[in-house]
This record gives sequence, C-alpha cells and structure tokens, in this order.
Amino acid sequence: MSSSNLWLPYTQMRTALPPLKADWTDGCRIGLADGRVLIDGIASWWTACHGYNHPHIADALRTQLARMPHVMFGGLVHEPAQRLADRLTTLLPGDLNSVFFAESGSVAVEVAIKMAIQYWLNRGEQGRSRLVAFRGGYHGDTFATMAVCDPEEGMHSLFRGVLAQHHLVDLPRDDASEAMLGGFLALNRDGIAAILVEPLVQGAGGMVFHAPEVLQRLRRLADQHGLLLILDEIFTGFGRTGSLFACEQAGIVPDIITLSKALTGGTMALSAAIARPHVFEAFQSDDPVHGPTRALMHGPTYMGNALACAAANASLDLFEREDRLGQVASISAQLESELEPCRALPGVVDVRVMGAIGVVQLARIEAMNALKAALVEQGVWVRPFRDIIYLTPAFTITSAELTVLTRAVRRAIATI
Ligand SMILES: *Cc1c(COP(=O)(O)O)cnc(C)c1O
Repeated sequence: MSSSNLWLPYTQMRTALPPLKADWTDGCRIGLADGRVLIDGIASWWTACHGYNHPHIADALRTQLARMPHVMFGGLVHEPAQRLADRLTTLLPGDLNSVFFAESGSVAVEVAIKMAIQYWLNRGEQGRSRLVAFRGGYHGDTFATMAVCDPEEGMHSLFRGVLAQHHLVDLPRDDASEAMLGGFLALNRDGIAAILVEPLVQGAGGMVFHAPEVLQRLRRLADQHGLLLILDEIFTGFGRTGSLFACEQAGIVPDIITLSKALTGGTMALSAAIARPHVFEAFQSDDPVHGPTRALMHGPTYMGNALACAAANASLDLFEREDRLGQVASISAQLESELEPCRALPGVVDVRVMGAIGVVQLARIEAMNALKAALVEQGVWVRPFRDIIYLTPAFTITSAELTVLTRAVRRAIATI
C-alpha cells in the first residue's frame, strides 16, 4: 500500500493502519479482497440505510442509465428530479416546498447559507452575513461549512484568518441558556442571517444528543428575533433518529432544511437544500434591472443528476413499502440492551442510544490503531473516532448481525 497513489481522507498516512481493500458488498456485509467478510456497523457514513446492493435501487439505476444518465440542469429538468422534489416536499413537515439539488452535503449547506444571506440582501437588509451555529456541530469540510463547525474540533485555528467569522455558541438546553442566547441575539441580530443546527444529534462532532425541546427553543428564538432557522438533517434525515426527519420529534418546521447522506440509499452522491415559500419568494422578481441578480446564483454541474434522483426515488419507494421506522425501533431496543453492559467496562464514561444510533463513549481512546484492528479481528467494520465507538447500521440489519456488532464492540473495548 505504501506505493499507492491514493490520498486518504482525515488520515495521517504515515502512522495510520493501511486501508482495507473492499471488493464487494451485499446486504450488511463488506467483502475484502483478501477473502475476509466484515459485518458493517456504519452503513458507509450512514448512507446505506437499506443495506448494500438493494435490488430495487439497482434496477432503478439500470433503467435510468439506459434512458438518460444525466443532463445539465440549466434550462432542462426531468421526471426523476421533478418526482423526487414532489415526494420530498410531501414527506417533509410544513411548507418546505422549494427543492434545490446539489451533489454533496457540504454543498447543500453552502447553498442553504447562501440562500439565508441573500434572502436578507434581496429584502434590502445589508450586513446580515453571520450565522449562529453551535459548539460540537459539524456541517462539512468546504470553506463556508468549516466556518460553522465546532471551533475546537474543526479547522478554525489552522485556517484562522481564512474562514468567515460566525457566532459559535452553546446549545440552549434550558431556560437560562435560552434567555442568554436571546440576549445575545437581541444585541447582534442586525448582523445575523440565520441559526444553523443539526437537529437532535450532532453527528460527526461526536454523536452528542439533545432533547427535542432544544429545537423548540431555537425555533422560538429565531421567531422572536426575526432570524431564519436552518436545520442540517444530512445525518439525521431518513429515519436515523427514529422518525423520518428529526425535526418531527420537536414539532417544528425550519425555514431551510438540508438533506443528503441516506437520500439515495447509499448509492449515488446527491443532496438538497429545501426552503419554505417566504425564502423562495424573496428570490423572485420581474424587475428588468435588478431581477437577474435576485436569483439564486448557484448551479453545480451535476445538479439534479438523473441517475442519483432515480436512486433516491427508489430509496423512497423502499421507505413506503417496507417498515423502515419499525426496523429502526427494533434496532434501537436491541442497541439499548446489548450496549448497556459496556457501561461496566473500564474506561467507558457513557452509553447512549437514539433511533438506530448506538454510542459508547470512553474517557479517551489511546490505542486507536489497536482498537480498530481488534474490531476487524472480530469480523466487523466499525470506525471509532476521538473518544467514541458508534454503531449506525443499515435499517435492514438482522438481529443476529446486530448482535455480532455489539458483541464485537464489547470485546474490543475489553481488549484495549
Ligand atoms: C456528512 C455531513 C455533512 C457533509 O456532507 P458531505 O457529503 O460529506 O459534504 C454536513 N452536515 C452533516 C450534519 C453531515 O453529517
């Protein structure tokens, strides 16, 4: 592998274990080139919610590939994108009705940020360019999104002076912190475009949960201070937290929502930023002079890729036909009972479960390479990071496969 010309993500390649070579996937299994087979506990960064190689998505992709893989989205639209937009707006709560497609989660968040800032400019309010985002948050790796990630864990210090300045604050978990954030917003609202948060679970920042009422507090604060609320449901969307969208558990509707990760069931890169009518309307104008600059100036080359939209439509078919949320509830119960014993293991400081997310947090993980090796040794694909080991399996995982995963986590912790 040392002669490989692949540059790996998030990896100090000098000291990391060499990557494993994946050769095939099927259901919840990843086959390696050397013949080993691993039970997958991550669903490839939470994308493969129906397991790998689902025949319904594969059929939809084959059909779309033969008919029309892709056309530019400038001036052209197509049935797969139209159908997907119709279905997403129907599934989403409230009047989140205007769907802008992109190809990655980071870009969807960038588009949402752009929408929020231009919303105020188009309404004649200058200077409202800052976001309020939260410690522990993660919204992507591009420059605009790095600037709204957790200030310690993100790239803030490394790229100091390059990143846009935003307000990074603590989540308002109680009345006192809601009042404090309210005071801050009252003083600074003229420079703020929107509040941006991952609802219920801060995922890549450490799988930290918060109660639905935190989202109600944020909706209330946004309304009181006349700010937009953006929910980044790229991780939580499509059932992961137990409801189809996390915001449903709080009974709130954001002004803009971002989706990606499980959108195509783990097959194709696709994302969306979806806005409510008041946001969309701010971009409409028939003014011959100013109209053109009021439009949303964004258009990824592969925007609305027809193959990706066909995969997403097939994925939504599966949510309709098969009881995915029921499966999530069963996974949740099993994770609770089978991870709970980890609490008694040395070094474990917390065990928490929400929907199909199970987290074991340690005081610290010193022997990260040894832990990763021990997990592979147990025949599972699980990627601990920082101080946590987490499971986010496909919703179609069998109870027996899930037991292999939870047992491997318990054993691996005991061996390091
Ligand atoms: C993964 C993730 C992103 C970034 O998505 P990419 O497709 O990796 O750019 C943004 N927000 C959240 C909440 C995510 O989990």
